[in-house]
Amino acid sequence: MKILRTKDDLKEAISKVRNLGFVPTMGSFHDGHISLIKKSKSKCYKTLVSIYINPKQFNKKKDFDDYPRNLTRDLNILKKLNVNFVFLPSTNEIFKEKRKKKIILTQKQKILCAKFRKGHFEGVLDIMDRLIKLINPKYTFMGEKDFQQLFLVKKFMSKRHKNNIFPCKTVRDKNLLALSSRNFLLSKVQLIKAALIAKYLFKLKFSLKKNVKIHNSLLIKKKELQKKFNIKIDYLEIRNEKNLTTSYKNRKIRLFVAYYINKIRLIDNF
Ligand code: AMP
Repeated sequence: MKILRTKDDLKEAISKVRNLGFVPTMGSFHDGHISLIKKSKSKCYKTLVSIYINPKQFNKKKDFDDYPRNLTRDLNILKKLNVNFVFLPSTNEIFKEKRKKKIILTQKQKILCAKFRKGHFEGVLDIMDRLIKLINPKYTFMGEKDFQQLFLVKKFMSKRHKNNIFPCKTVRDKNLLALSSRNFLLSKVQLIKAALIAKYLFKLKFSLKKNVKIHNSLLIKKKELQKKFNIKIDYLEIRNEKNLTTSYKNRKIRLFVAYYINKIRLIDNF
């Protein structure tokens, strides 16, 4: 496994690799990340994983400071998986060049997490653009766990790079809780609570009928959920999964949630 820290080393190492799979991550691996890596290994000749905690996508410095970091453990996992390349850029290295054009979300895109985390997706799109331009992979593997991120990156990249974003299903633990690096920040009791919330939302998704009252019933459920679990909820919304608008007539719908257990913000979709 080659560990690459600079753009020059990266370029040299991958210049002759044609069918390269790319898995961008912020580290602290769990089985969700591992499923993406395995998918890349099955579809591509070689796989490159990046680990970079991008400060530009954190709207609060404390959230960035507290984000879990487990580099030694992560590198051991990648070695065992026989990953070919790991890219560990520094902020200086990756953001050395100034952007020519500022990334701006449209008004329609300022929904769900974009509404509650100002600048978050602009930061995500910026780093993804830089990494994909540099790596030029055949496929980039991303999780549906971050559905809005996947949606926005796909859209942004389709206009810029000849790159295929490959969506991967959300991996959950045996209690239905979506795996997330942020789960490392939860206590045992908090993990049980998060799993109960996931179970509640699974049931809710299946009970919601496609009717005009869907909005009202969701507002009631949101209040019920807040009270039952004593949590703050940023949003609990149904959207159509094709374009994330609220026009969900005859479309496949998805239930989106973002909530806090104490100070830890968790997101999921069902
Ligand atoms: P992160 O390290 O949290 O930035 O995530 C890196 C990639 O892993 C993103 O494409 C995520 O959507 C994906 N991912 C995170 N959690 C899961 C999960 N539970 N199942 C599948 N993919 C995931």
